[in-house]
Formats: sequence, structure tokens, C-alpha cells
Amino acid sequence: MILFIFVPRKKKTEMKDRIKVVAFDADDTLWENQTYFDEAQLKFSRAVTGYADPEQAQNELYHTEIRNLDTLGYGVMAFTMSMIETALRVSGDTIPASRIHEIYNIGRELLKNPATPYPEVEDTLRTIAETMPYKLIVITKGNTTDQENKLERSGLTDFFSHIEIVPDKNEEAYGKIIDVLGIKAEELLMVGNSFKSDIAPVLKLGGYGVHIPAKSTWQHEVIEEFDHPNLFRISHFSELLDIL
Ligand SMILES: [Mg+2]
Repeated sequence: MILFIFVPRKKKTEMKDRIKVVAFDADDTLWENQTYFDEAQLKFSRAVTGYADPEQAQNELYHTEIRNLDTLGYGVMAFTMSMIETALRVSGDTIPASRIHEIYNIGRELLKNPATPYPEVEDTLRTIAETMPYKLIVITKGNTTDQENKLERSGLTDFFSHIEIVPDKNEEAYGKIIDVLGIKAEELLMVGNSFKSDIAPVLKLGGYGVHIPAKSTWQHEVIEEFDHPNLFRISHFSELLDIL
């Protein structure tokens, strides 16, 4: 006789009963973003040819971005200002205006990111929205207008009942969002590609995290990952349906 023993997946069942809100990061979780920045960095290094070698140009740019985080924050505008600042610095303020124009256009181009949803995103969101009791929201950082425009271009807006665009995604920011939503931390599940911004702070507050790594990750977003009972790791967006 064959005995089938059903072993309940406790973690999953408990979580499903508990969570009320499923929150999604936007860039590199719902659509591709970092690869556009990677390309922009390459174009930048070409625009400063003669003043810095490609590696030096990209290192200088990265350090400028990090120095400017406190005042400029994240997003295309901050990136563009940092490119211009870096070009002026590495050239000793001698770079021609035509090159600055070129750099400015690299930034402008980034605002046209098509924000085409990754495969499986739309169908998965639809299944969750139509068959599950959770409230779906977006939590993203960067420039408000740019993030709103991308969401609009993605065609995904209608799936979400709440959009939060915050200057940075840390424990404090998530704490405030939890308050605004009127829920407890353990009623929030956050889905995202950045372990540092989307996962670690939510786990620390007592919420749940689903990590989906992206093709490319900005070096500032890379941290040492850790295991946690409230953490799920998936590699395809539709695997969310196995967790929820
Ligand atoms: Mg992201």
C-alpha cells in the first residue's frame, strides 16, 4: 500500500492568511530599467572621450552620483546632473557645450524608457487581481513625473489601487507606507529586484519579501543577501502565483 502523506507548507499557509497588501517595485521588477542606465553610462564615457578613459569616466560618474544622493536623490534628473557635473570635473571645465548637449540628450533619452512589462507580468497581475483578495500597490523611488509616466506607458496602472513614489526605500519609508495603508508590517508582502531596497527593509520590519533578481543591478543596490523565514526567492514573475 502506498501512503500519501500531505505535509502542509506552514510558512506559505500562514503567510497567505496574514497578508493584505502585495506591493510591487516598478523598475526592473515590472519592466526593464537598469539596462537603459547601463547603456547611458557607456554613451557618457564616449561623450567624455579625450578627458577620461571609459572606465575612469564611469567610476567618476558613479562617485558623483553617490555624493549627490543626499541632495538629488534617485532617478533620471539626478543621473543627468551627475553626468554633467562629472564631465565638467574631468575636463577641468573645458569640455565644449556641444558635448554637454550630447550628455544632456543621453539623460533626456532615458525619460523615453518604453516601460514595456516583462513577460508574465501582465497575466500574473491579472490573475492576482481577479482571483485573490489582496490589495495591489506599487512602491517605487525616483522622480515622481518620470515614474508616473512609466507606469502610464506600461499599461499596468489599473491593476494598482495605490502608488507610492518615495525618495528612498528604507525602513522609515516602508514604516510610513504601512501607516498610510492602515496595516501591520506582517500584512505586507513586497515583490522586487533589489534586495537592498525592496526586501531587506521590509523583512526587518516584520513583513514578507519576494526577491526576483533582474538582469542588471546598479552597484549601489548590491548588498550581501541573507536568508529569512519571511523571504521567498523566485526567478520568474509568474512563480508569484505559487507563493500567493
Ligand atoms: Mg527595482
